[in-house]
Amino acid sequence: MTIENVIIIGSGPAGFTAGLYTARAQLNPLLITGNEIGGQVALTHEIENYPGFPEGLPGPELVERFQKQAERFGTRIEYDYVNEVDFHRHPFIVRTQSGKEYQARSVIVSTGATPRKLQVPGEEELTGRGVSYCGTCDGFFFRGKEVVVVGGGDSAIEEGIFLTRFATKVTVIHRRDELRASKILQKRAFENEKMDFIWDTVVESINAGENNAVASVTLRNVKTGEIREFPTDGVFIFIGHVPNSQIFEGQLEMKDGYVVTNKYMHTSVPGVFAAGEIQDNRFRQVASSVGQGTMAAMEAEKFLAELEDKGYEQVRAEMLGLELAGA
Ligand code: NAP
Repeated sequence: MTIENVIIIGSGPAGFTAGLYTARAQLNPLLITGNEIGGQVALTHEIENYPGFPEGLPGPELVERFQKQAERFGTRIEYDYVNEVDFHRHPFIVRTQSGKEYQARSVIVSTGATPRKLQVPGEEELTGRGVSYCGTCDGFFFRGKEVVVVGGGDSAIEEGIFLTRFATKVTVIHRRDELRASKILQKRAFENEKMDFIWDTVVESINAGENNAVASVTLRNVKTGEIREFPTDGVFIFIGHVPNSQIFEGQLEMKDGYVVTNKYMHTSVPGVFAAGEIQDNRFRQVASSVGQGTMAAMEAEKFLAELEDKGYEQVRAEMLGLELAGA
């Protein structure tokens, strides 16, 4: 069986960038896309904060450009979904849904994260039609409108404050009577005249108006049981993210479901690198994921050069700071 130099798992900004860099380093990378090519970017209406595109561009177009550039230098793309890995042996093993099995000298994990869904009626149908999971991406479209933010963590409050730049009113709907967000963010939010809070309340459904866009949410007070309809133009949901890391359980060190890396994008297994939101629950930007994909690719290149010189056991021992038995 051919042994691949690098297998990249995932096709978001980090994955395609890792493809671009490893391809340009003549490593002939194989990128396995996953079920959603482009990941969260592909679901974003317009990206206006990715440098180099002053007019902004639709998320799917940016994904297309990432892919084209990675392929131009020789990244091979497989439209498949990785459902099993074995990092306990080297070469590593990667298995896919379609039944293929690959061997790889190095792996770059860039499977991303998925915004946690409320799982209420209307949410899925109205995504992109008033329901959003990204204030930074979509806030601009709510200029002069009223929106609600669901959640009480740092993301909800930070994005809520950001949304007050555009919306005339931002109402935070939280299931408890106190926020989880840091005190400093709370203070800024409470002092912001455009922000309002509805406590002890959950969203029961998101409702469309005449133009098939969001018109209201149905709310339930968890203490009194009272149900009411609350008119709004937009629903921003920030109730956490779910990293797509299930297949790495028992393979890589993880914290809260995220793959743990050092500042060079090394995971706990020498030769396996991770980039983008699978290992970053803080920045979550296209630009930061692209940077991390670059770093992972450059480290994979360095690892492969050392591997050729010294063999896996030696490189592994050096990377983990171990003494090799008998060395
Ligand atoms: P988070 O801290 O997990 O907060 C999620 C919020 O959503 C919580 O308030 C939670 O309510 C609520 N929630 C969860 N499931 C819900 C459901 N089904 N229905 C209604 N509400 C639900 O997530 P996050 O805000 O995305 O933050 C993730 C991490 O990134 C945190 O460590 C955070 O500190 C960090 N972060 C930091 C910054 C910053 O430092 N500026 C900015 C963004 C994120 P409960 O409070 O009742 O659990």
